[in-house]
Amino acid sequence: MRKTDQKLNSILRLTPRQEKALQKLRLITVRDLLLHFPFRYDDFSNIVTVSEDYIGQIITVEGTVSKIKSRRIFPRRMTVTEIFIQDSKGNTLRSVWFNQALSLSGIKEGMTIRVSGKLAIDQKYFSMSNPSFERAGRAATNTGCLVPVYPETDGITSKWIRWQMKNLLGYAAYLDDFVPEETRKKLHLFSFKSALKQIHFPDDAEKLLIAQKTFAFREMFLVQTKALQTKMAWDGKKAITIRSDGKAADDFLKSLPFELTGAQKKASLEISKDLGRPVPMNRLLNGDVGSGKTVVAAIAALETASSGHQAAIMAPTEVLARQHFESFCRIFKDHDFNIALLTGSYKLVSKKAAGSTRSSVEKLTRKNILEEISSGNIDIAIGTHALIQKDVDFKNLALVIIDEQHRFGVAQRSALQDETMELKDGNGSASRRTIPHLLTMTATPIPRTLAIAFFGSLELSILDEMPKNRKPITTKIAQPKQQKEIHDFIRNEAAKGRQAFIIFPFVEESKAMTEVKAAVSEHERLQREIFPELRLGLLHGKMKAKDKEEVMTQFKNKEYDILVSTSVVEVGIDIPNATVILIENAERFGLSQLHQFRGRVGRGEHQSYCFLFTDSASSERLRVLEETNDGFKISERDMELRGPGQFFGRVQSGLPDIAMENLANVKLIKISKEEAEAVLSKDPQLKKHPALRDALKKFQEDVHME
Ligand code: ADP
Ligand code: MG
Repeated sequence: MRKTDQKLNSILRLTPRQEKALQKLRLITVRDLLLHFPFRYDDFSNIVTVSEDYIGQIITVEGTVSKIKSRRIFPRRMTVTEIFIQDSKGNTLRSVWFNQALSLSGIKEGMTIRVSGKLAIDQKYFSMSNPSFERAGRAATNTGCLVPVYPETDGITSKWIRWQMKNLLGYAAYLDDFVPEETRKKLHLFSFKSALKQIHFPDDAEKLLIAQKTFAFREMFLVQTKALQTKMAWDGKKAITIRSDGKAADDFLKSLPFELTGAQKKASLEISKDLGRPVPMNRLLNGDVGSGKTVVAAIAALETASSGHQAAIMAPTEVLARQHFESFCRIFKDHDFNIALLTGSYKLVSKKAAGSTRSSVEKLTRKNILEEISSGNIDIAIGTHALIQKDVDFKNLALVIIDEQHRFGVAQRSALQDETMELKDGNGSASRRTIPHLLTMTATPIPRTLAIAFFGSLELSILDEMPKNRKPITTKIAQPKQQKEIHDFIRNEAAKGRQAFIIFPFVEESKAMTEVKAAVSEHERLQREIFPELRLGLLHGKMKAKDKEEVMTQFKNKEYDILVSTSVVEVGIDIPNATVILIENAERFGLSQLHQFRGRVGRGEHQSYCFLFTDSASSERLRVLEETNDGFKISERDMELRGPGQFFGRVQSGLPDIAMENLANVKLIKISKEEAEAVLSKDPQLKKHPALRDALKKFQEDVHME
């Protein structure tokens, strides 16, 4: 075991309370603590003798303790400790602390100490209230320097962490530095060890900055090296060439009730070209809700299936997989394709019987579906992640389409690609093996700059044009006091036969049960008190896929007028008759997510409305949703406001915070990518960079999907 993998509780004397607190902060090993970074620094580096010039400023004063007074204020059960010190010029400074008697008990008259805090003048003395302090003989840790302030929890103070950190920093020598020395020198970055020292105990502001740059670079370098490695492996593979004469696609397009948008045509052409090449496609289809990604995916599947190969389509949830299955069955009703749906709960196949023009849907067992897939009987297989598990053998899989929604994070993409590469096809002997073309689709637009910078290893097709027949959704930010008015509005729409969504922001998974209770009681309250004459359905995250499905089908069939839902409704369900969406506590969601919700309406012929309930304090941020329906504009704004992390899911991305913060730092990404290229071009197997190889392996394990 590495020294840095030792458990903190085995090398530190911890009280049970401290142990619990550390666990809460997820600080288990020495390494964890070393990588627990300050979130800010108190600048106590200005060491001076007291004078009127410094009043109101943060300073550090060193002096000899001349008097200590301690008293209790009984009614408030407080102790007040006063310590007077004389600085080198003989000025007196009075410091006052409340309830710090214990930690001050080591300070005695005659000692030299340092105090750091804001200087004030109080009656006749210079004074400080609750200053940070320590004995002057010690190295500056809590005073006299840039003092790190850590994320704390009850039981663990910053002061305690500083103290332990000082002692544990020596362990940094046992941590491998995976950034090649050459790279580090070229970019004037610190070694891992020095960077750790400087991030915890910076000598000065400049060194702190270099340390922060060093960590940002490390993370981004790892991400980029991983991406590049995957790309190199990918580019070295062969894919099945799908030659289409264009006729199948043309006929298909003629059969559609609409004409493709310019953006759809362009994307389709780009995909078609990629499919025709013997190297595997790796393309991201980046488009807004409702921009028509499904048809573009369908054309790719059509070309694949018409050329006698198989296509697989993967969705993040069962409900969505089911919807894709239905869309594809409908879209291809005039074709002879056999289409399968395979998820935990669904095992369906849609086939056309010989001589019949109509398809029928059959239920099969998982085993039977797998047989149909491996025999090549299935042309298009749709499902969840279950679809590309090791036990699924395709006969000649040539295209994998992943409808990403929010679920599949970015860092997992390379893991996913690795999995795609591992997919078996029936005739694949190792030497002449091909891998499928890969098309991923975003659920919501990712800012263009971010997509280009971050998905450097992907080709990009952008659907930035909405189908013409769309009526922009009217969006209004509403105060809680307007609730009645808006409830009346919903009632009115319902009277006209329309339907509505009411969304509550119960989102935290950790509070799943509370969420369910809250959703259930809101649904009851609305039904009983507000809309007694209407039919209200309920949807929440803890329902089984089948039940969710049932509720949504019922809503679709107009058995409900209103669907009360938690954020699970986000997955792209299509209810053309729904014209109103009301979102409670809208400020709890990001702009992109709100835009995504809003996309649940406005899918039919009627004018649609979105009401965002929020208190006035938060309404400014949401204003952009009133102003535009352009998802790309909204996501750019969202990135400015909340950083890029959200585009990749919260927990799922697997990226460390520091890399997240720097995702939008285009220059950093560029440099990291160049360095990754430099290293890998000279040493593709990383034989000379074992530390980097190990770090990548660990990175892969950390971000790998369960
Ligand atoms: P998303 O990009 O969110 O997956 P969909 O593919 O579900 O969007 O498309 C939304 C709706 O728009 C579907 O009902 C689809 O049939 C329709 N649609 C797609 N392309 C066009 C178009 N070019 N013109 C008109 N309607 C279109
Ligand atoms: Mg979609």
